[in-house]
Amino acid sequence: MAVLPIVKYGNDVLRRPTELVDGIDGELQKLIDDMVDTMHAAPGIGLAANQIGVSRRLAVIDLSVGKRPSDIIVLINPEIVEVEGEITEEEGCLSIPDMTEVVTRPLRVKARFLDRNGTPREMWGEGLMARALSHETDHLNGNLFVDRLRGFKKERILKRIQKLAKAGMW
Ligand SMILES: [Zn+2]
Repeated sequence: MAVLPIVKYGNDVLRRPTELVDGIDGELQKLIDDMVDTMHAAPGIGLAANQIGVSRRLAVIDLSVGKRPSDIIVLINPEIVEVEGEITEEEGCLSIPDMTEVVTRPLRVKARFLDRNGTPREMWGEGLMARALSHETDHLNGNLFVDRLRGFKKERILKRIQKLAKAGMW
């Protein structure tokens, strides 16, 4: 198992829609373990494979951040199939470190995916879980939370990134 470097906003791999996972083998299991380690080390509550430079439709979520192993959710080829309501809350991203902004997302989402054994699953997430499912699925489609921002909020965060990039600190 290994902690891998997380790519940042501006890296093309974050903008490419990821490729469907077409088989579950030992190599995929190792990738999943590495992603869980990387998410816990960050620390974060979710990580998509393209955030470690692997353009495959795979993400992990752990709202307990390593406290409860049974809380780890592995999402292979996830899709959001239903949404309900709306909520605006503070959000961040491991690929946009040290910056947060309030983002509007569905209050509840229903996700369909394969678990790490390849078993088809469906789950409703609410609140923070809904936010994580939506955020990670966005990643796998090549989208980032800043894409959901408008106007001044969006400008402010993009300017901060530009400034850090110019100073060689991004
Ligand atoms: Zn993210």
